[in-house]
Amino acid sequence: MFIILFGAPGVGKGTQAALMVERNNLPHFSTGDALRQAKAEQTPDGLLAAQYADRGELAPDEVIMRIVEQTLNKPAFARGALLDGFPRNLYQAGELDTILAKRNQSVDRVINIKVDEAVITKRLIERGRPDDKPDIIANRFKVYRESTEPVLNYYDGRGVTCEVDGDADVETVYNRINANIQ
Ligand code: ADP
Repeated sequence: MFIILFGAPGVGKGTQAALMVERNNLPHFSTGDALRQAKAEQTPDGLLAAQYADRGELAPDEVIMRIVEQTLNKPAFARGALLDGFPRNLYQAGELDTILAKRNQSVDRVINIKVDEAVITKRLIERGRPDDKPDIIANRFKVYRESTEPVLNYYDGRGVTCEVDGDADVETVYNRINANIQ
């Protein structure tokens, strides 16, 4: 199964992904984590992407697609994946479809986790990652609304999208997500 965990910055995608990996045995792939790792390893893509992340902008699509192709080609991802932070714009969504179509696969579920912007801004500031500063957070939300939210419409009509209220404790949100992937 290919499942996309979708939602604004800070809605809890990473937290829920960790639980799903543990309990549902799905390989997890977070483009954000992959970019932070690449930055730590000081690869050219990692250093380039960090310049964008530090401003709350999306990293270049070519960098993202290189990482995505490499990752999805690994045997661990042959039969499915839990995608977190990808696709983040319409171009990436189209490229993902192309990659999966070549493998006779497709996106099975898009789980849209929803939480009020005021609540997640507070969560992010408490988390305190370098890109969790108020003005950068505001830009990430703007980019989310402009570039990422339209991805939901892209999947409309395929019967794969569902919405989950993410303003609850971690277990409750997990149960809500799980109810949508049975
Ligand atoms: P969050 O969802 O909390 O904003 P992520 O860890 O998913 O954080 O991503 C951090 C940063 O990495 C983003 O702000 C962006 O710069 C970059 N990034 C992650 N995934 C993508 C992607 N699919 N396309 C472009 N940039 C990305």
